[in-house]
Amino acid sequence: MFSAHPVEPCNTDKFKVSVIGCGTVGATTAYALLLDGVVTDLALIDNNAEKAEGIMLDLEHSLPFTSNVKLTSGSDYALCAESDIVIVTAGKKQAEGETRLDLIKANRAIFQDIIPKITKNAPGSLLMIITNPVDVLTYEAQRISGFPATRVFGTGTTLDTARLRFHISEKIKIHPHSIETFILGEHGDTSFPVYSSANVSGKPLASFENFTKEVAEQCYTEAKNAAYRIIHDVGYTCYSIGTVARELVRNIFNDSRKVFPLSVRVSDYYGVSDVALSVPCVLGRKGIEDVLMVPLNEEEKLNLQKSADTLKPYIA
Ligand code: NAD
Repeated sequence: MFSAHPVEPCNTDKFKVSVIGCGTVGATTAYALLLDGVVTDLALIDNNAEKAEGIMLDLEHSLPFTSNVKLTSGSDYALCAESDIVIVTAGKKQAEGETRLDLIKANRAIFQDIIPKITKNAPGSLLMIITNPVDVLTYEAQRISGFPATRVFGTGTTLDTARLRFHISEKIKIHPHSIETFILGEHGDTSFPVYSSANVSGKPLASFENFTKEVAEQCYTEAKNAAYRIIHDVGYTCYSIGTVARELVRNIFNDSRKVFPLSVRVSDYYGVSDVALSVPCVLGRKGIEDVLMVPLNEEEKLNLQKSADTLKPYIA
């Protein structure tokens, strides 16, 4: 490690993140965190220790141009001790033609192995789940860890929502930040857009001349099918989810209490309980600080129930 670092760290208070699984998503997440500047300690863990080490070495060679992050790597879960956040990306990814739910058997077995090791070594951390099917595995991670539901969440439909806002922004020519709408429910085929309250600065989205019902449907379909399209073209998705992870880490670090559609174990959310799926969550240093009951119309309530009914049979 360098004795005199040429770049001043953005953050000097210790803030440690561990990334479990150093495949395309884990490596991209680590890279995004390295560039971001709030993380001071980054542990990379993979059952393939050489892979974790290789990613670490490559990232270390970026350090002359980034803030001073202490990197560690290997297959020993002791490396994740004292983490503020543990991000789980380990596991099988979708092959072309597979749904996220098709991954449950392989990835549940991995979670049964790794969640106790994380819990033992980082008992005070927040768990951010990325591995698919993210909703079922968020539920499993919370159950296996015994952590309060407020400290275990999946990235859920934050990515789908980013995709939706991007596609809407292209149509109405307004920046995605200013478009207030969410995709909620399963991070998968039964997700649904909350268009009933969608707006830009209070102006209903439906009142934009070029945002017709057909355009609304097209934007959602493109957002929903994005992963299938990208997996067909490239074999995996990584940049957008890595950016989502960076955004969530930064908001936790800042205790921003910003609202994201995250996958959490819900209790009587419009009558839906005992399942993890995406609902609007207030995110802060302690994790999920609140779940907002947002207005849903009858169709949206039915869609939420449909997501829950789809996910429940996959819970062990
Ligand atoms: P990948 O195959 O490139 O990497 C998976 C990594 O997990 C590999 O490095 C592998 O060695 C490691 N691994 C496997 N078993 C392990 C274990 N027991 N302990 C530790 N490490 C283990 O896959 P990827 O493209 O990085 O995708 C990872 C996961 O992220 C997949 O399930 C994918 O579907 C999911 N994903 C989720 C989102 C989302 O929005 N939630 C987006 C993209 C990808």
